[in-house]
Amino acid sequence: MKAKLALTATLLALACVPALRADKEEKDHKHEHKEAGPNGGRVLHSVEPHCEFLVMADRKLQITFLGEDGKAIAPAGQTVSAVGGERSKPTKFAFAKTGNALVSDVPLPEGNKLPLVLTIKTAPDAKAVVEKFAVDLSNCPTCEYKEYACTCDHEH
Ligand SMILES: [Zn+2]
Repeated sequence: MKAKLALTATLLALACVPALRADKEEKDHKHEHKEAGPNGGRVLHSVEPHCEFLVMADRKLQITFLGEDGKAIAPAGQTVSAVGGERSKPTKFAFAKTGNALVSDVPLPEGNKLPLVLTIKTAPDAKAVVEKFAVDLSNCPTCEYKEYACTCDHEH
């Protein structure tokens, strides 16, 4: 159920249709989706422990796993891979442990709004969890985060 809601929220976020706003607010009411990660990234609730997706200043991708208190915890056997950008010429990302996080080997390609498919395995024998969303790097006009990590209830 939770995964379904998360998927619905993702689709709504991608749709950017004002008419869906009331519907979205009703859903958000029931689920605790609206907090940013400790580094200002997008918190992914589809995996346990949850993790934060962040685009760093150099456009590399960083995944940080979060404890119950929402603070960073060291990765413990999780593996992450991603593919994104233009469909005709997708960029593949491999992640390696850097400090308390997993960081991609290559940066995001150019562009302010790129589709991304993130595959997370919480353990070597665990089922892979796939997150698909648009990495929108424009600044949200009404909160302090970028659109991909926006914590507002509104659609743009
Ligand atoms: Zn916002």
